[in-house]
Amino acid sequence: MSLTPHDRARIIQSAFQARESAYCPYSNFRVGAALISASGEIIKGANVENASYGGTICAERTALVKAVSEGTKSFAALAVTTDVKAPISPCGICRQFIREFCPLDMPILLVPADYTDEFPDGREDGSGKIIQTTVEGLLPLSFGPGDLELPRGAQ
Ligand SMILES: [Zn+2]
Repeated sequence: MSLTPHDRARIIQSAFQARESAYCPYSNFRVGAALISASGEIIKGANVENASYGGTICAERTALVKAVSEGTKSFAALAVTTDVKAPISPCGICRQFIREFCPLDMPILLVPADYTDEFPDGREDGSGKIIQTTVEGLLPLSFGPGDLELPRGAQ
């Protein structure tokens, strides 16, 4: 799958916008995620923490739950950003959650906080550089919905 420069810029900026809505009084680690659907719609998500800690939901899953619960189940790309000047990648649970709904070759952009569209490929010193990967890149040899359809051994 490929992402047009226009859509790439849209999801990057949307991830930064989504980060503004993070509710993270416990970790103080803001995360913003933005999906673009197959039809070009942007869906944003932020991490939402909980005093129980276990009730916390990450930005990536917030975006996916928002989209899927509103009827959007086909996605073209995901961007994730934080306040850290390094690309931060989705946690393990989110990787599996992304795998449920997104094609294995779907682009995933890990956007450092110091990214600027003035230097879309990063600065000369290497800062501000996005890591672009895929669902399969983040979760190789993954288990997905199709595995449940496989024939079972005879008993
Ligand atoms: Zn997560």
